[in-house]
Amino acid sequence: MQEFQDLRTDLQRVTYVAQRGEMRALRFEQSYSRKSEEEAVSFEQIYDTLIANEASAAKALEVMKKCIQKTPPGNITALAVRYMKRGWASLLLEYFEAAEADAKISLSFDCPEELMWNSYEILGYCRARIHDYKAANTYFSRALENLRRGAVSNEVKATAAARIMAVFKTVKDKKNKKSGADKPDETKKPFPPIPQLSYGPNKRFPSASSALSFVTMEGKGRCTVAKRDIKPGDVLMVDSPFCTMINPSFLDTHCFHCFAGVATPTPCASCAKVWYCGEACREASWASVHQAECHVLDYLLDVNIGKLALLSFRVLTTVTWPGLQRMRQSIETLAEAEAEVKDEPQKEMEEEAQEGKSAEHHPLQWQGKYLAQDYRTVLHLTSNADKRSFGDMFKRSVTAVYLAHCLKISGFFGSQDVEEDDMSFVASVLLRHLQGGSCNAYEISELEVSGEGLSGGKLQEVGGALYTTISLTNHSCVANVARYSIGDKCVLRALVPIPRGGEVLDNYGFFFHSSTVNERQEVLLNQYKFRCECRACAELWPLYPHHTSEILIFHCPSPGCYSPCSYSTSSRTACNVCGNQQQYAKLMHDMEQQLKHYNDLLAQVRKGTTANTLPQLLSHSTFMTRHVVPPVKHYTDLQEVIKRCYILQGNIFRPCQAATPVEVQQRSAPRLRPSKREVVLPR
Ligand SMILES: [Zn+2]
Ligand SMILES: [Zn+2]
Ligand SMILES: [Zn+2]
Ligand SMILES: [Zn+2]
Repeated sequence: MQEFQDLRTDLQRVTYVAQRGEMRALRFEQSYSRKSEEEAVSFEQIYDTLIANEASAAKALEVMKKCIQKTPPGNITALAVRYMKRGWASLLLEYFEAAEADAKISLSFDCPEELMWNSYEILGYCRARIHDYKAANTYFSRALENLRRGAVSNEVKATAAARIMAVFKTVKDKKNKKSGADKPDETKKPFPPIPQLSYGPNKRFPSASSALSFVTMEGKGRCTVAKRDIKPGDVLMVDSPFCTMINPSFLDTHCFHCFAGVATPTPCASCAKVWYCGEACREASWASVHQAECHVLDYLLDVNIGKLALLSFRVLTTVTWPGLQRMRQSIETLAEAEAEVKDEPQKEMEEEAQEGKSAEHHPLQWQGKYLAQDYRTVLHLTSNADKRSFGDMFKRSVTAVYLAHCLKISGFFGSQDVEEDDMSFVASVLLRHLQGGSCNAYEISELEVSGEGLSGGKLQEVGGALYTTISLTNHSCVANVARYSIGDKCVLRALVPIPRGGEVLDNYGFFFHSSTVNERQEVLLNQYKFRCECRACAELWPLYPHHTSEILIFHCPSPGCYSPCSYSTSSRTACNVCGNQQQYAKLMHDMEQQLKHYNDLLAQVRKGTTANTLPQLLSHSTFMTRHVVPPVKHYTDLQEVIKRCYILQGNIFRPCQAATPVEVQQRSAPRLRPSKREVVLPR
């Protein structure tokens, strides 16, 4: 312990750990979930039993997902049939979009038409459902034709033909009706639009608004400061990730690359672990990060290694080995400088660069454009190496050496033998990111809503990412901004007015109203290595609902008085302290109007209509910020409602659910859905 604690640099730490006997004895083989036709076949057999029973279509769907994931990519015919079968299960569950998408995938494989009659049948149903009778007619005809040529028993043919004909007849009668299929048949919902930065982008920090500047202050380190008055609602940052990772519990429901919720996912062509929303994401993921990690994924997703492992691994595979070698000298210089320099000078980062002092620059000062895709922005993140305990640092060092071995067997260094020196260098860089990630990684969130509308729902952490510009903001338990995700982008918006010169303060997940001062201080010190000195911490604000009896406390508007008055108990005509009547009565009147209006706004938010209500809520927030004395219940509620409106403009996930059943006008007409009892599938 003493030996380890005396070490000054990350390179020394990883070298020390790598020399321990236990680490030298580590032997690595590739380890991942492999494809297997044998396992796929056994899943398919389970599906075939399940699908015959009406009640087990949902189970059948899950089993067929596993079957597809296990099927080796070369088994074209098997894959085509299995996508068709998954589509059929979706159809029975009335997941029409999913059914249609799978039927189309099944037909995209080049295999005999007569095997695929069932896919055409699925497409026929899905088209008929949205009144696209012309297309439905064509699909049903092809289904019948292929069924006739197919190699199934006459009994099967007869049952299936009867089923198809029953719906086909209705469709035929209606085929002259105007096609109602103007709705684009998208299976992947696009992400919500990304908002524009208020006041345009910052010249040197393009992910931030020009209303912000970045400074280093004594005792506080890096800070984000308002260069002008900021209004609530202003978009202050829109940051792209340097790299991302999925939270392992969302592997089966979300795209491994873009984090979209997926109903008809496509598996990785190489492993049987991850899903994509489509071919585009599969290719993009493979080309950027997944090729390097696919065959060591079991190690990287191991719960014992921690969430930052995959993220740190991906930082390196994104930079690549040649890229890292090009920067080797500057990384080593930076690491050495950090081991010596402790205090950062109090200078404005931008001003300094403009003054042309770059020659004698502090190694941690930023020069040039600060771009999300620039690896130097990741190196620039705080690691807090000097504040870490022995156990913390030792565990991270072991993880770093372990990850370097994973990189080695995944082919990161190319085919040639790896020098011990290179391994140590790479492990030291990994150690740097394992430290930086613990204070600079952010969640990628989404709101999971069930049922219609946008009320209720659960905010979930689907993944993590490094956002190097967002990382420059500090924490406060009473944040003045809110953060939410759109796709893999992160948006930061002002919640309250921030005056010129004021610091932009985010919240790292510990709010004054939901956790106690002690809890907050403990986590912030352990994980982020600082003591919070925000107003809530300094004044020991109580937890929500603060003081239930006093819904609103405000400052007397009379200049020079400023005494706190309670809205519920105070006199409505004059200040109890200074006796002011005119200004006081006016404020009471305004406040009454504001609160009345707020209740209307709240009702609209509950209904899920936020587009028009948000600006009004923000103006209410501006009014309240000017007058109330926090913490008061109404003000806390208001901030939470505004945050909710922001979140509704970000990622929203609806678990796959039955669409509204098809309305068929004539009573005698069959439902545009196969009766489950008649289901027979090709084997
Ligand atoms: Zn995707
Ligand atoms: Zn893979
Ligand atoms: Zn605090
Ligand atoms: Zn007064």
